[in-house]
Amino acid sequence: MAASKTKKAGRKRAPRVLRGAALRAHAREIQRRLVAEYPDAHCELDYRTPFELAVATVLSAQCTDKRVNMVTPELFRRWPDARALAKAPVEEIEEVIRSTGFFRNKARSLSGLAQAVVAEHGGELPRTMEALVVLPGIGRKTANVVLSNAFDTHEGIVVDTHVARLVQRFGLTRETDAVRIERVLQPLFDRPTWGMLSHLLIWHGRRVCDARKPRCGDCTLNDICPSSTT
Ligand code: SF4
Repeated sequence: MAASKTKKAGRKRAPRVLRGAALRAHAREIQRRLVAEYPDAHCELDYRTPFELAVATVLSAQCTDKRVNMVTPELFRRWPDARALAKAPVEEIEEVIRSTGFFRNKARSLSGLAQAVVAEHGGELPRTMEALVVLPGIGRKTANVVLSNAFDTHEGIVVDTHVARLVQRFGLTRETDAVRIERVLQPLFDRPTWGMLSHLLIWHGRRVCDARKPRCGDCTLNDICPSSTT
């Protein structure tokens, strides 16, 4: 078959977005199937404390979780908490995290984060969205990761590149901005499931619904996904 006739999920026109009850039912069916497919889905970053999770999440920008997990044991061994990291020379942090990319910016963020946590929160990471998002290096996505995984508090839904891509392919929204996507998703799913929902979408994005080559023939959502290529 000529290449131009081959259906490609990444290049097709945006799928039609359902509305109201039909949209909610579609969203719930996707969630139900992904729960069945990935009952053990979880955060793939290694951490022992909320602060360590915040640090690992900062490092995960433009980097794989696997790479971050190779770097953090040494980082956490040398500077086991915010007080220790706050005193670390930025150049030494840079050396340890170099392989995660953008290491100069990340080292500055981690140093600033640790210093702010010590100066303003007694060395403990705060537990609210408002307090987290004003800390150096912490945006809404990182705050959602920390709140959901370390504090079991679901103030929002983590929208990373996988989540944004998948919800568009599913026909849940055409929004591309992470905050707007979050606003669309929140009423579709029960709040206690928001944390797990992000894990499910990220796991499916990493394992099956690849950005360039989605494996639609192996996908549990094949018959209900408007972007299926098979
Ligand atoms: S069928 Fe599955 S793999 Fe294919 S685009 Fe849809 S969700 Fe992605």
